Amino acid sequence: MMRLAKNLARLGLRAVPTTLMVRGLRERLIGFSYHAISEGQIPHVSHLFPLYTPQQFEQHLIFFKSRFNLVSLSQIRESLRTDQALPRSSAFVSFDDGLRECLTVARPLLLKHRVPCIFFLATGFLDNQNWFHRHALSLCIDKLRTLERSDLAETVERLAQVLGSSSTHPEDLVDRMISSSPGDSSKTMIIGEALGVDFGSELSARRPYLTSADVELLLDDGFAIGGHSNHHPDLRSLAKEEALEEIVGSCTELRDRFQLPSVPFAFPYSGKGFNTRHLVEIGERYPFIDLFFGSEGLERDPVVINRVSTEFLLSSRNGLQGPEHVLKDAVFHLLWRRRPRSRPQRPVTQGS
Ligand SMILES: [Zn+2]
Repeated sequence: MMRLAKNLARLGLRAVPTTLMVRGLRERLIGFSYHAISEGQIPHVSHLFPLYTPQQFEQHLIFFKSRFNLVSLSQIRESLRTDQALPRSSAFVSFDDGLRECLTVARPLLLKHRVPCIFFLATGFLDNQNWFHRHALSLCIDKLRTLERSDLAETVERLAQVLGSSSTHPEDLVDRMISSSPGDSSKTMIIGEALGVDFGSELSARRPYLTSADVELLLDDGFAIGGHSNHHPDLRSLAKEEALEEIVGSCTELRDRFQLPSVPFAFPYSGKGFNTRHLVEIGERYPFIDLFFGSEGLERDPVVINRVSTEFLLSSRNGLQGPEHVLKDAVFHLLWRRRPRSRPQRPVTQGS
């Protein structure tokens, strides 16, 4: 019954013209976040969430430009510093995790349409030093799904044992792998071993992340960068001092390496529930960390600027969405969440 009500509510919202919706949201700064844009599959990402193609991403940019004033990080900063409101219906675009496709695929389209963008980088992956363990997990899933039939029986037995699964069906094992704790990188290493994935060789061969030279190029273009932790843990699961090191460590490294006067920070996964007092303390102790960004859609927060995670909208489970639906689903998410006892589950395949 609840699902029916929800679907009807969503359908009703879809009938509302986006021009009206944008008018309703015009006092709110809206952020849109992405991870990777690609024409084809990316083995280390595609098994976590679906990817927009360059054509789809370009449609998003054209739509956003037609409905919003797309603003840069400098404009957001200036507005907060001077307490002057941003232009009505302001929005911004950002990318998380620092994948190479930010440079090779997104950058030319952002430049073509003159759209400012903030790239949030996990410093532990910069220059291809390490895998983000969720990307390593996607690589494992790719290996499992493309195994030769002759190797399958023995490998799934081994993997089922590692995962404690009574089923050896490959897709049951994939479900188990995806639902393993987001913070459990050691488990990913064990899964990789069972599947015969050589993470070091894969990292050297694929070079999945931006390099420092790539980041210099993005900065020269006028784009902005920000911290996204060192190793992409769920900060809410860490002790205060460990979380502090992930935030301050990554922002300090970016500040020093790229000579930046100030560095914003975007929470890995979600900042929801993170102690706001700690954020205020960080801002006071380390004033160069000047803004915090989250992933709670259109929700307002006194300290964190939230963004709509375009790949993780509820309806994305059935395929990626056109730009109008991205906006409408974000509004739907906001309104539905406000209803008591009706909080939607986030998709299990979070990789932000
Ligand atoms: Zn992320």
